[in-house]
Amino acid sequence: MPDDDRMTGRCLCGAVKITVTGDHKDVGVCHCDMCRRWGSGPAMALHVGQDIEIEGKDHVTAYRSSDWAERGFCKTCGSNLYYRLVEADSYVVFAGLFSNQDGMTLKSQIFIDEKPAFYDFANETTNMTGAEVFALYAPPADQE
Ligand SMILES: [Zn+2]
Ligand SMILES: [Zn+2]
Repeated sequence: MPDDDRMTGRCLCGAVKITVTGDHKDVGVCHCDMCRRWGSGPAMALHVGQDIEIEGKDHVTAYRSSDWAERGFCKTCGSNLYYRLVEADSYVVFAGLFSNQDGMTLKSQIFIDEKPAFYDFANETTNMTGAEVFALYAPPADQE
Protein backbone atom coordinates (compact mmCIF):
# COMPACT_ATOMS: atom_id res chain seq x y z
CA MET A 1 0.00 0.00 0.00
CA PRO A 2 1.68 3.26 -1.10
CA ASP A 3 1.93 6.02 1.51
CA ASP A 4 -0.46 8.34 -0.31
CA ASP A 5 -3.29 5.83 0.07
CA ARG A 6 -3.05 6.25 3.83
CA MET A 7 -4.75 8.88 5.92
CA THR A 8 -3.60 9.47 9.46
CA GLY A 9 -5.44 11.18 12.23
CA ARG A 10 -5.49 11.55 15.97
CA CYS A 11 -7.59 12.66 18.88
CA LEU A 12 -7.11 16.07 20.47
CA CYS A 13 -4.61 14.89 23.11
CA GLY A 14 -2.80 12.49 20.77
CA ALA A 15 -3.27 9.35 22.89
CA VAL A 16 -5.26 7.71 20.07
CA LYS A 17 -3.92 7.54 16.53
CA ILE A 18 -5.94 6.36 13.55
CA THR A 19 -4.73 5.17 10.18
CA VAL A 20 -7.13 4.56 7.31
CA THR A 21 -6.11 2.82 4.12
CA GLY A 22 -7.81 2.95 0.73
CA ASP A 23 -9.94 5.58 -0.91
CA HIS A 24 -12.36 6.95 1.68
CA LYS A 25 -12.80 10.63 0.93
CA ASP A 26 -16.60 10.82 0.80
CA VAL A 27 -17.90 12.61 3.85
CA GLY A 28 -21.37 11.77 5.13
CA VAL A 29 -23.22 13.98 7.57
CA CYS A 30 -25.62 12.62 10.15
CA HIS A 31 -28.11 15.04 11.67
CA CYS A 32 -29.74 12.51 13.99
CA ASP A 33 -30.63 13.42 17.52
CA MET A 34 -28.04 11.01 18.99
CA CYS A 35 -25.11 12.30 16.90
CA ARG A 36 -25.97 15.91 17.69
CA ARG A 37 -26.28 15.19 21.40
CA TRP A 38 -22.98 13.27 21.38
CA GLY A 39 -20.91 15.77 19.40
CA SER A 40 -22.89 18.97 19.92
CA GLY A 41 -23.35 19.23 16.16
CA PRO A 42 -24.00 17.03 13.17
CA ALA A 43 -21.52 14.18 12.73
CA MET A 44 -19.24 14.41 9.68
CA ALA A 45 -17.64 11.10 8.98
CA LEU A 46 -16.07 8.68 6.50
CA HIS A 47 -17.34 5.14 6.00
CA VAL A 48 -14.13 3.11 6.13
CA GLY A 49 -15.46 -0.37 6.93
CA GLN A 50 -12.51 -2.38 8.22
CA ASP A 51 -9.78 -0.29 6.52
CA ILE A 52 -8.71 1.11 9.85
CA GLU A 53 -5.95 0.70 12.40
CA ILE A 54 -6.29 2.20 15.86
CA GLU A 55 -3.22 2.84 18.05
CA GLY A 56 -3.74 3.55 21.73
CA LYS A 57 -6.86 1.40 22.03
CA ASP A 58 -6.48 1.35 25.84
CA HIS A 59 -7.34 5.07 25.72
CA VAL A 60 -10.61 4.41 23.89
CA THR A 61 -13.94 3.99 25.62
CA ALA A 62 -16.76 2.51 23.53
CA TYR A 63 -20.29 3.48 24.47
CA ARG A 64 -22.96 1.06 23.28
CA SER A 65 -25.50 3.53 21.92
CA SER A 66 -27.88 1.05 20.33
CA ASP A 67 -28.40 -2.67 19.84
CA TRP A 68 -26.35 -2.55 16.66
CA ALA A 69 -23.69 0.09 17.22
CA GLU A 70 -21.19 1.62 19.60
CA ARG A 71 -19.49 5.02 19.68
CA GLY A 72 -15.80 5.31 20.51
CA PHE A 73 -14.17 8.29 22.18
CA CYS A 74 -10.84 9.13 23.81
CA LYS A 75 -11.22 8.79 27.55
CA THR A 76 -8.62 11.51 28.19
CA CYS A 77 -9.68 14.34 25.87
CA GLY A 78 -13.19 13.22 24.89
CA SER A 79 -12.64 13.39 21.12
CA ASN A 80 -15.32 11.53 19.16
CA LEU A 81 -13.44 8.86 17.21
CA TYR A 82 -15.82 6.47 15.51
CA TYR A 83 -19.24 4.90 15.16
CA ARG A 84 -18.94 1.12 14.78
CA LEU A 85 -21.55 -1.33 13.54
CA VAL A 86 -20.85 -4.11 15.99
CA GLU A 87 -22.09 -7.15 14.06
CA ALA A 88 -20.30 -6.21 10.83
CA ASP A 89 -17.27 -4.73 12.70
CA SER A 90 -17.61 -1.80 10.30
CA TYR A 91 -16.28 1.65 11.18
CA VAL A 92 -17.45 5.16 10.41
CA VAL A 93 -14.64 7.54 11.42
CA PHE A 94 -14.92 11.24 12.13
CA ALA A 95 -13.46 13.41 9.37
CA GLY A 96 -12.15 16.06 11.76
CA LEU A 97 -9.52 13.69 13.19
CA PHE A 98 -7.47 13.62 10.01
CA SER A 99 -4.52 15.97 9.53
CA ASN A 100 -4.99 16.22 5.78
CA GLN A 101 -8.55 16.78 4.62
CA ASP A 102 -7.67 17.65 1.01
CA GLY A 103 -9.88 15.81 -1.44
CA MET A 104 -12.66 15.10 1.03
CA THR A 105 -16.10 15.83 -0.45
CA LEU A 106 -19.40 16.25 1.33
CA LYS A 107 -21.52 13.58 -0.39
CA SER A 108 -24.55 12.76 1.68
CA GLN A 109 -26.71 13.86 4.56
CA ILE A 110 -28.77 11.40 6.56
CA PHE A 111 -31.53 11.88 9.12
CA ILE A 112 -32.20 15.16 7.32
CA ASP A 113 -35.65 15.12 8.94
CA GLU A 114 -34.02 15.44 12.39
CA LYS A 115 -31.88 18.45 11.40
CA PRO A 116 -32.70 21.51 13.51
CA ALA A 117 -33.78 24.62 11.64
CA PHE A 118 -30.89 26.80 12.82
CA TYR A 119 -28.35 25.54 10.27
CA ASP A 120 -28.21 24.29 6.65
CA PHE A 121 -25.31 23.08 4.50
CA ALA A 122 -25.07 24.71 1.08
CA ASN A 123 -23.32 21.68 -0.50
CA GLU A 124 -25.24 19.65 -3.05
CA THR A 125 -25.65 16.23 -1.47
CA THR A 126 -27.80 13.13 -1.48
CA ASN A 127 -30.24 13.54 1.39
CA MET A 128 -32.11 10.81 3.21
CA THR A 129 -34.60 10.80 6.06
CA GLY A 130 -34.16 8.46 9.01
CA ALA A 131 -36.93 6.20 7.69
CA GLU A 132 -35.17 5.96 4.31
CA VAL A 133 -31.88 5.06 6.02
CA PHE A 134 -33.50 2.30 8.06
CA ALA A 135 -35.32 0.96 4.99
CA LEU A 136 -32.01 0.78 3.13
CA TYR A 137 -29.75 -0.68 5.82
CA ALA A 138 -31.83 -2.37 8.48
CA PRO A 139 -32.25 -6.12 8.02
CA PRO A 140 -35.85 -7.26 7.60
CA ALA A 141 -37.30 -8.25 10.95
CA ASP A 142 -37.43 -11.94 10.03
CA GLN A 143 -33.63 -12.01 9.60
CA GLU A 144 -32.78 -10.51 12.96
ZN1 LIG B 1 -7.31 12.03 23.35
ZN1 LIG C 1 -26.51 10.04 13.66
